[in-house]
Amino acid sequence: MEPSSGLRLKAVLFDRDGTLVRDVPYNGDPDRVRPMPQARVVLDCLRAQGIATGVLSNQSGIGRGVLTVGQVAAVNVRIEQLLGPFDVWDICPHRPEDGCSCRKPAPGLIRRACRRLGIAPGEAAYIGDIGSDIEAARAAGVRGVMVPTALTLPAEVDAAPEVAADLRSALVLLLPAAGRSVP
Ligand SMILES: [Mg+2]
Ligand SMILES: [Zn+2]
Repeated sequence: MEPSSGLRLKAVLFDRDGTLVRDVPYNGDPDRVRPMPQARVVLDCLRAQGIATGVLSNQSGIGRGVLTVGQVAAVNVRIEQLLGPFDVWDICPHRPEDGCSCRKPAPGLIRRACRRLGIAPGEAAYIGDIGSDIEAARAAGVRGVMVPTALTLPAEVDAAPEVAADLRSALVLLLPAAGRSVP
């Protein structure tokens, strides 16, 4: 069934830390990457449906000088080894005080990903674990779904238009038939 907008879902974009993998602050060590529950099966379901996937992440550790671009790239390679290939990757390396247009809650990362995929914002969804993810999705005009963790602030959960308990439940919100077929 088509969503009410009339646009079909063509891409599901994800936050990285706390959404696809456990949040290890300023992690530069590939050996510390641990996928979140159901991440692999949900991603494989999307790929089987022909839906593009992407990872969009704030990595201010680079701008702060506590992480190198190479360390972040090594962690991202490990994530692809564990979770499979993504169609688009992008990070914001800036600090909050840099005032860039890509750091979430700004919409730059999401807008750029849609452009690179050749899709309209209305054809994408963004899944993240905190309020700034959902604000960025709203600002970019994409459907935002929050999958909170124990660390997500309750006020940010309350403010999210759509909340799912885990990644599989988020998939069911976006693609009910395919999502329910995921074990
Ligand atoms: Mg996160
Ligand atoms: Zn930025």
